[in-house]
Amino acid sequence: MSSLIVFKNARHWRTGEVISLAIEDGVIVPAPKHAGEFVRVFDCKAAVLAPGLVDLHVHLREPGQTNKESIETGSMAAAAGGFTDIACMPNTEPVIDTPAWVEWVLRRAEGAGHCRVHPIAAVTMGQKGEQLAPLQAMAQAGAVAFSDDGHPVRSAAMMRHGLEYARRTGLPIVCHEEDPDLKGDGVMNEGFTATRLGLRGIPNAAESVMCRRDADLAELTGARVHLAHLSTAQAFDALRDAKRRGLPVTGETCPHYWVLTDEAVGDYDTHAKMNPPLRSEEDRAACIAAIQDGTIDSFATDHAPHTSEEKKRPFAEAPFGIVGLETALALTITFLVKPGHITLARAIELWTDAPRRVFQFPEVDLEPGSSADLVLFDPDAEWTVDPSTFHTKGRNTPFAGWTLNGRVLATMLAGRFTHLDDGFGLQRADASSTGAAQ
Ligand SMILES: [Zn+2]
Repeated sequence: MSSLIVFKNARHWRTGEVISLAIEDGVIVPAPKHAGEFVRVFDCKAAVLAPGLVDLHVHLREPGQTNKESIETGSMAAAAGGFTDIACMPNTEPVIDTPAWVEWVLRRAEGAGHCRVHPIAAVTMGQKGEQLAPLQAMAQAGAVAFSDDGHPVRSAAMMRHGLEYARRTGLPIVCHEEDPDLKGDGVMNEGFTATRLGLRGIPNAAESVMCRRDADLAELTGARVHLAHLSTAQAFDALRDAKRRGLPVTGETCPHYWVLTDEAVGDYDTHAKMNPPLRSEEDRAACIAAIQDGTIDSFATDHAPHTSEEKKRPFAEAPFGIVGLETALALTITFLVKPGHITLARAIELWTDAPRRVFQFPEVDLEPGSSADLVLFDPDAEWTVDPSTFHTKGRNTPFAGWTLNGRVLATMLAGRFTHLDDGFGLQRADASSTGAAQ
């Protein structure tokens, strides 16, 4: 006998209508007309119900760096953040550059079971930029994209070569755009704050010259290019131009680029050190404008956990990166939706439908027949970020102590709860019949 889960009094993420949703065997089904099954009814109290969020850019650190994160803890953090699907980067130890490692990540993620993990495989062996990795075989093993993320592919000829092979798989290359020579040993944004602190800067052009190079290579090869974690006004312009030219180029940005500027580095705060770096107020405004005009195809977190010991090093020596999975939705609601830059429906689309389109994942919606991959959240609920309560091993966030709006109440993957918030715990409204299934 199958068991039925019913969400009642939920608000539809797109229309705002109050809806009930029934789930059976992992799939959304038409509302039940008769009792008799094992039914669990949850009163959503007008919280918003949406398809599970998707993050195209996550560092799970496994294999090799489980002191920073593991597939288990990273995917648990994803579920807590409302995500049902995440794509993980191959800059692990060893690098994911063979079909066997792609399969290993998939197996391990399935064992953890907190969300679907989609491996991104390296473009070049060891991400060294010297020899192409076996792209076709890794695609067959389940890779969803290719990237040397953490680094750019330095040589344009190597990138061309990679794109030619990637094109045959239909998968995009995700580009971490930074000209290594322009970056030099820069550790934060080039500008007043860097000068004040006596730190070496990274100019905006380090990012945008590579965006323009790779857009031209997309034109040359016909392959798909996805520009990762865009941060500068010039990079948004490069993506805008690529689209105007009709090139197969997409791009993402991350919450910290629409929330913070390089002033967050303050007094050498390594929790504001990431790559690309936090930029100027003009860049932050350009980021919001690029979200508003549709230049940005998708959001992503660039979740990059590090140990506290690593982040305690002097600013110039501390690693780049912050965690993002458990604050992404709230930063989106608090800093894009509440000030009126975009609607809630559009914000959710940029975390759901939009990334699914970029990586060609199956569509998910709140319609019968769709996989029950869901997030239930209260967009108004206020909470204070306390990194000690995170599910990720990383505590490296610049948002500790911030009060945000938007709380994930529950996440469901194929009909199974992967996260249930205790603070706001769903009230079980009704447990009819005997022995409601657990
Ligand atoms: Zn990157």
